[in-house]
Amino acid sequence: MTLSDSELERYSRQLVMPEWSGEAQERLKRASAIVVGVGALGSPAATYLAAAGVGRIGIVDSDAVELSNLHRQPLHYTPDVGGAKAENAAVKLSFLNPEVQLEPYPVRLEPTNAGPIVAGADVVVDCSDSFATRYLVNDASCAEGVALVEAGVLGLSGLVTSIRPGRSACYRCAFPVEPPEGSVPSCREAGVLGAMAGIVGSIQALEALKLLTGVGEPLLDRILQLDGADLRQTIVATERRAGCPACAAVPAAAESR
Ligand SMILES: [Zn+2]
Repeated sequence: MTLSDSELERYSRQLVMPEWSGEAQERLKRASAIVVGVGALGSPAATYLAAAGVGRIGIVDSDAVELSNLHRQPLHYTPDVGGAKAENAAVKLSFLNPEVQLEPYPVRLEPTNAGPIVAGADVVVDCSDSFATRYLVNDASCAEGVALVEAGVLGLSGLVTSIRPGRSACYRCAFPVEPPEGSVPSCREAGVLGAMAGIVGSIQALEALKLLTGVGEPLLDRILQLDGADLRQTIVATERRAGCPACAAVPAAAESR
């Protein structure tokens, strides 16, 4: 697979980086990513993945754009209110980078469709906003052996971690007990600042690009906690749990996944 003249120009400012290479760019072009949720985290994450040249991006979101989304979801504009988020994001991202294949999935992720949607992808970027979906995405990604970037944001604080199933701690290894519904305030209740979600979603894109290209060191067995109030960051070490119901039985994934 070779890069066209327009691709070489489009990606020239990352190709010139000493850490990057034509090979890294071609790896991205061959890669397939699934972004779950194209809201506060998914807007920046999907934007940077599409802009960087990830070959195929599937966008899973069953919601419609609401006026109260716009302060933190910069792929959706005021005239888009009422439209389907997955399809609107695909349209916007195709304007940004027509070299990328965009596949909207305007469906709710459920136990019956999570496996088939993530199967065959090279990375899943979980930008969902509920614990139920987060555990579902973790379990499906582990079962299919697909690398995963998990994150959450609330108010001014954020959290990001990367997972290679079978090799590093999964989300369930780090947080074995799913918080009961309603025990943690939602973004509707506790609020969130758009710029903070933008930082966390951008870190998710950075992690996904590292996992796909082999450039840099992803947050494997590490959880980044970021406090937007003073920009203090903490890295917490995690490790695989022997009896983890999601990943204990997963064989180590191949390097390319
Ligand atoms: Zn696990």
